[in-house]
Amino acid sequence: MGKKHVFNAGPCLLPQVAIDNTIEALRDFKGTGVSLLSISHRTKGWDEVMDECRALWKELLCIPEGYEVVFLGGGASLQFLMSSMNFLEKKAAYLETGVWAKKALKEAQGVGEAFAVASSADKNYSYIPKGYVIPKDVDYFHITTNNTIYGTEIREDIDSPVPLIADMSSDILSRRVDVSKYNLIYGGAQKNAGPAGVAFAIVKVDALGKVSRHLPTMLDYRTHVDKLSMFNTPPVVSIYVMNETLKWLKGLGGIDAMHAIDVKKAETLYAEIDRNSLFIGTAAKEDRSIMNVCFVMAPGREDLQDEFMKFATGRDMVGIKGHRSVGGFRASLYNACTQEDVDALVAAMQEFEKLHA
Ligand SMILES: *Cc1c(COP(=O)(O)O)cnc(C)c1O
Repeated sequence: MGKKHVFNAGPCLLPQVAIDNTIEALRDFKGTGVSLLSISHRTKGWDEVMDECRALWKELLCIPEGYEVVFLGGGASLQFLMSSMNFLEKKAAYLETGVWAKKALKEAQGVGEAFAVASSADKNYSYIPKGYVIPKDVDYFHITTNNTIYGTEIREDIDSPVPLIADMSSDILSRRVDVSKYNLIYGGAQKNAGPAGVAFAIVKVDALGKVSRHLPTMLDYRTHVDKLSMFNTPPVVSIYVMNETLKWLKGLGGIDAMHAIDVKKAETLYAEIDRNSLFIGTAAKEDRSIMNVCFVMAPGREDLQDEFMKFATGRDMVGIKGHRSVGGFRASLYNACTQEDVDALVAAMQEFEKLHA
């Protein structure tokens, strides 16, 4: 098996050390002689993993006092519902920057009054709307910081007169976040934080319990905050891998070090897209994501699309097909993707240009 360059959009590439350590734990969890698959989640050794994982989240993202991190099933998609049930009392405003944002809004509309203050649907979500006004009389303003499908990103915490709620599924742990601006940050782990099967939620504990509706036990963040994400059986293996991924990230120097690496990878690939006569980027330049880089064949060269796909596959590139709603190509440069992976993709693009220019 040759070494592949994995650009999958999610589930995504994870650090090899996290995979190797998990394989070891699957054989023998912490020298107990029992597989990670078979341990009780009530054993002390497991408590330590949960504690370490929570502590790493807090340390890496500088999560202030008053916030708790919980690990949940149901993916980011269940968070669309849960976030609105727990925080929407009268009204909520959403920024519609893509399909995920739209799905989040739709769930909120089933719960109460929710609307989009702005949308970039007019240009197939290829940019982040600007100049909109966030109403002051809403319970929260919901944003999707990274639009995985379209390759656009809100790269800085925005100023808002009301608390923010953010779906950060696909750019969490790639930059510093001022958590204090948010009532809730959530996401599926499988884009940058770990494998599929677990979602994370960073919640402002004080802001909970303010809605008048009945909250089913499992859909109430307080249940999971109070029980330290062990109200019911947690997704043990997924959390284990996430913890190993966070340990790797810390070892690499933490968020700022990771951010510098991520920015350099993205700049490398965008520079090639802008230079190479065969390709163009699809996202507005000022809104380009450092995580998902979307590009298509240049006008007049569309006939080369399938050929480039084959060419790149032959050079061990995996997962660069664009989402069907955008077409072309998408390279996801999540944390575990290396500069070498990006350089290999750039080299393939350059060779391909020489063959066809
Ligand atoms: C992938 C993705 C989701 C959906 O995540 P699931 O865990 O599959 O429900 C939601 N939002 C964003 C931004 C995503 O990238």
